[in-house]
Amino acid sequence: QEHLLRGPFLARLYGTEASLQKEDSTTEGNSFKGHDMLAPFTAGWQSNDLDPLVIEKSEGSYVYDINGKKYLDALAGLWCTSLGGNEPRLVAAATEQLNKLPFYHSFWNRTTKPSLDLAKELLETFTASKMAKAFFTNSGSEANDTQVKLVWYYNNALGRPNKKKFIARAKSYHGSTLITASLSGLPALHQKFDLPAPFVRHTDCPHYWRYHLPGETEEEFSTRLAINLENLILKEGPETIAAFIAEPVMGAGGVIPPPATYFDKIQAVVKKYDILFIADEVICAFGRLGTMYGCDKFNIKPDLVSVAKALSSGYLPIGAVMVSPEVSDVIDSQSSKLGSFSHGFTYSGHPVACAVAIETLKIYKERNILDQVNRIAPKFQDGVKAFSDSPIIGEIRGTGLILGTEFVDNKSPNDPFPPEWGVGAYFGAQCEKEGMLVRVSGDNIMMSPPFIMSPEEVDELISKYGKALKATEERVK
Ligand code: PLP
Repeated sequence: QEHLLRGPFLARLYGTEASLQKEDSTTEGNSFKGHDMLAPFTAGWQSNDLDPLVIEKSEGSYVYDINGKKYLDALAGLWCTSLGGNEPRLVAAATEQLNKLPFYHSFWNRTTKPSLDLAKELLETFTASKMAKAFFTNSGSEANDTQVKLVWYYNNALGRPNKKKFIARAKSYHGSTLITASLSGLPALHQKFDLPAPFVRHTDCPHYWRYHLPGETEEEFSTRLAINLENLILKEGPETIAAFIAEPVMGAGGVIPPPATYFDKIQAVVKKYDILFIADEVICAFGRLGTMYGCDKFNIKPDLVSVAKALSSGYLPIGAVMVSPEVSDVIDSQSSKLGSFSHGFTYSGHPVACAVAIETLKIYKERNILDQVNRIAPKFQDGVKAFSDSPIIGEIRGTGLILGTEFVDNKSPNDPFPPEWGVGAYFGAQCEKEGMLVRVSGDNIMMSPPFIMSPEEVDELISKYGKALKATEERVK
């Protein structure tokens, strides 16, 4: 798998290996030869031979590499720089806070004003169900890891020590710590890491195009998945299942929006068996789908919510967990009994990260960010989806400012291209050549551009996508 971009099939797509090595540096087969960093989600360590793409500067919807080449950042960093690459107000908020109080913690009933203020602001943004408290982390992984601990603590407090299992979904991504990689339904995150942990179960991926039965409607597909979930719960024993975790739109698994009626049916099952619903809004929150939260879009009423990424427009690391009054009350009484809620991080509620997040939320409100997203989203969606007829594309899917493309042969989910061909990687390399960065995962391409893109930049994105697609079609033929 790591060597997907090398080997005898390269010539078919790339001509020579030498040309590949130049073209290919956005893709997951990258390595860091001659560099000292052990890079995340990168193949190899010391032995490969591709130079990394080194980004040096950002401006609006663009980033620049160390050679000065300009790229449209169609993934907004890692689905996070919602306000683009140089929002001066965020820099000013950070600078002001750094000058005043660069750090103080939030342990033992000591804290800082930015963390208190952010908790209040953040809770006000979430209206799909009532949330009582916010807990701060440094990342989405820490947020979801915290969810597991909260849920276990909650069930222990309620005298239900056996209600501990988590159900997540195939192809989900919830992070890469031990626990969140376990929750994630991507085999690459488990392989050789001795994961998933034994308390995790995975249920169906809700990808209608790929998994529906012949003649099955979206609604029927959703019904079948809800029945499968119920059967899984009954098989395991409802008294052993603590929580269900889901991204409103799956991101890293290939951008998979839920089929019609899916969340209504899933929520009914989860509720029936007194299982907590955790919404992983790490990608979807703050406007990416054209609504403040993915929960608003799909009428999800969660007990717990995870956010990160666009909370600070990616400018500083911060994530958060929001907790319903019911869960919060139980945790409150348990921690009072024990003398402490013994969970937290040195940088939970870091004042500089919180100051930047407060300013980010303020900007979203002042600039009517949802209106902005909804103004450009149709152009983005329609413009890219217009390429759906391509003979090498199986499906282009998405909503708001998130889109996935899946390359297959014969337009069929059952006819993947041989992985050694690296079709997705070639497309990614062509995008890079055209001056655009996308995410490549096998033959899935993902895009989640900054919220601030102008209509002209959307046109540019579509045009670059079109050119990369044409070049890929020609190579695959
Ligand atoms: N949850 C979702 C849905 C994500 O997409 C991600 C990261 O992409 C995470 C959790 C993990 O967040 P982090 O990388 O900040 O730990």
